[in-house]
Amino acid sequence: MYRVKMFFPRFCRVLPPTRLWSALLMIAMSAFSLSAQNEPLHVIAFGAHPDDCDIGAGGLAAKYAALGHKVKFVSLTNGDAGHQSMGGGQLAMRRRAEAQEAGRRIGIQYEVLDNHDGQLLPTLGVREQVIREIRAWKADIVIAPRPNDYHPDHRYTGVLVQDAAYMVIVPNLVTDTPPLHKNPVFLTYHDRFTLPQPFRPDIVVSTDDVYEKKINMLDAHVSQMYEWLPWTEGKLEQVPKDADARKKWLPTQYPDAVPPEWRASLQKRYGDQARSTQHAEAFEITEYGRQLSEQEIRRLFPFFPK
Ligand SMILES: [Zn+2]
Repeated sequence: MYRVKMFFPRFCRVLPPTRLWSALLMIAMSAFSLSAQNEPLHVIAFGAHPDDCDIGAGGLAAKYAALGHKVKFVSLTNGDAGHQSMGGGQLAMRRRAEAQEAGRRIGIQYEVLDNHDGQLLPTLGVREQVIREIRAWKADIVIAPRPNDYHPDHRYTGVLVQDAAYMVIVPNLVTDTPPLHKNPVFLTYHDRFTLPQPFRPDIVVSTDDVYEKKINMLDAHVSQMYEWLPWTEGKLEQVPKDADARKKWLPTQYPDAVPPEWRASLQKRYGDQARSTQHAEAFEITEYGRQLSEQEIRRLFPFFPK
């Protein structure tokens, strides 16, 4: 108390009252922004199946995790339909274990919700599960599929997460989990669908530095990468039997190459470095979450060169 009394009169003599308050405000604001910069970011990604988030944002997640930020992947279904020769509880248990191993390999959390695969609907119950997840994670960034996709579970995951935007701040809803104070940023993964409109690559992140980590993460989903997905594409016989050989084959299935339409966005954030970028992931900023200034983009995606 004594020190405070001594400090303020001297400080007041140096600055007139209005200047004093603005100086104090600036000190408080810079302290706040410094602490905001040092706070870890909280990123949550939703997929319909245990491997969807990995394919869309495994590289991005690995980059955040390497910088000490908090990332969680959530699969809205347990994946119990995704195999040609097994199913039900046995497959769900196998896929949960694969997802948790995938998360462990890049240092993120992975949760698999117990909704049936191939039967996901945009019900109020599942929307509430999504709202709880986003709130409990105190998310700054939420990632989901766009609501137009070949698979109904992917479509409804897009709808469910879109429908949770804004609702996450409404205190009268889902009252068992405290609301967020501000709407997070909602992003969508890249997809190849063109109707009603093609994907817009607002944020393109170079994943050259984490591409091996992403492949290592995908490799944990043995039932999908080496069994179910090749079977659905009629190329099961192409999959090498040996564990090392098949891990070398995996990048041929997920090259994460940079298509020409992503180059401008990559160039905007990476400058000349963009020319040598081999692997990338891209995201669209949806209109339903918080909108971002370029300065905020640089804060929320701290990998872009200064
Ligand atoms: Zn899927």
